[in-house]
Amino acid sequence: MQILAEAQRRQGRTIGFVPTMGFLHEGHLTLMRSAREQCDTVVASIFVNPTQFGPDEDYERYPRDEVGDRRKCESVCVDILFIPTAIEMYHSPSAVYVIVEGVSDILEGKIRPGHFRGVATVVAKLLQIVKPHRAYFGQKDYQQCIVIKRMVSGINMDVEVNILPIVRERDGLALSSRNSYLNANERRAAPAIYRALSAAEQLVRSGEKESEKLKSAVRAVLEMEPLIAIDYVEIADHESLEPLVIINDLAVILIAVHLGRTRLIDNLLLV
Ligand code: AMP
Repeated sequence: MQILAEAQRRQGRTIGFVPTMGFLHEGHLTLMRSAREQCDTVVASIFVNPTQFGPDEDYERYPRDEVGDRRKCESVCVDILFIPTAIEMYHSPSAVYVIVEGVSDILEGKIRPGHFRGVATVVAKLLQIVKPHRAYFGQKDYQQCIVIKRMVSGINMDVEVNILPIVRERDGLALSSRNSYLNANERRAAPAIYRALSAAEQLVRSGEKESEKLKSAVRAVLEMEPLIAIDYVEIADHESLEPLVIINDLAVILIAVHLGRTRLIDNLLLV
């Protein structure tokens, strides 16, 4: 992959890169289409990264569909699909990690210790391997975007990070490979997550600025669905992810819930 990437660069071609864990959906394909529009060579990767899963998480049962994924990548004209094995990615005998302190320890990081260390490490490795000029990520994983932006600027990586909006189902559910875990009843309950985010957005539009009131409104919508168990509802600064008491600048509302055995996250920028 490095030799291929270097050859593209020597020919003066710009490389756009979309890292994924596979089981591709329209959210992933939107990132690939943007890369296709903006770059000469588009590289996508599929790698279910073991180091970002906790011991009791879904690494083993994470959905996989390499044949379908290849077809989808072809349909959006990806040039190179990079599918390394875990052994190839982590062959080194010494453990080397990239840690983005602070922002990795709150919200998702608090509930999933080590998760963002795994994410930052694998993204750093993939960027070194694929050598892209531009890399594409989804706002769906909001905190991940912040971690990656900080890593890239913090260690002066020469890559432009592009964040694209969340792609949703018609009923508002954010597309996610993990949605495939949901049974019919859970799937029917899931749009409450976006309804809850939208309720907060409406309140902000009508002048509400107090986080506590907004969070209560969000919780109230979520609690109407008995199948949903809330992990957290937080309103935070859009860059630092520090919790906000009063919303006066760009804020983001972040939600994590359990629907049965499935854990889902979503977010909305409040402007
Ligand atoms: P994943 O395969 O879940 O690791 O996701 C790979 C990339 O696709 C990440 O940058 C995600 O944020 C992004 N992504 C996942 N779901 C969506 C979505 N519904 N809309 C936009 N981007 C997404």
